[in-house]
Amino acid sequence: MTEALIVVDVQNDFCPGGALAVNDGHLIIPLVNTMISDADLVIFSQDWHPLDHSSFSANHIGKNAFEQIDMHYGPQTLWPTHCVQGSRGAEFHADINLNAADVIIRKGMNKDIDSYSAFYENDQTTPTGLTGLLKEKNVSSVKFVGLALDFCVAFSALDAVKHDFDVSVVMDACKAIDNQGSLDSAITRMRNAGVQLI
Ligand SMILES: [Zn+2]
Repeated sequence: MTEALIVVDVQNDFCPGGALAVNDGHLIIPLVNTMISDADLVIFSQDWHPLDHSSFSANHIGKNAFEQIDMHYGPQTLWPTHCVQGSRGAEFHADINLNAADVIIRKGMNKDIDSYSAFYENDQTTPTGLTGLLKEKNVSSVKFVGLALDFCVAFSALDAVKHDFDVSVVMDACKAIDNQGSLDSAITRMRNAGVQLI
């Protein structure tokens, strides 16, 4: 049986200097590169939004970044404009071993729905195709690393559990945004769902 390493959103906009920088985000890269070299199957996710994406506060008059709004699929946090398709911010960090990626899954292309998870958009029903890929590759366990721990990594790990994979998150190879208790909440949800935090 195969183990997949899923490297979540190690992109310029989530690293220091980026539009939605995660503190010390770039510091995980040496460890992630080591893990990449040991992995059977390496999958990268890439946040990849159109400029008119509905998760950007700039597209909602009178709203600020990090406010919550109600979308047709439920509450949605608004973000600064980030990871715009084709922009430098959307590119992977120059130090990550991108050449070792077997597959790159892009997410967040639908302007009407945000997508934290590498498996489903935030409506929880529109799939990215990653589940089928992992099943076809005989993957039984998935290990997550990347940015940001409390959003895209956590949502991806929680979706992976639903599909009966053995799921782990390597905490030293992740960094969090930690906005309004989001890190504690994500850790609790992952623990309760059976995600191994290592
Ligand atoms: Zn995004």
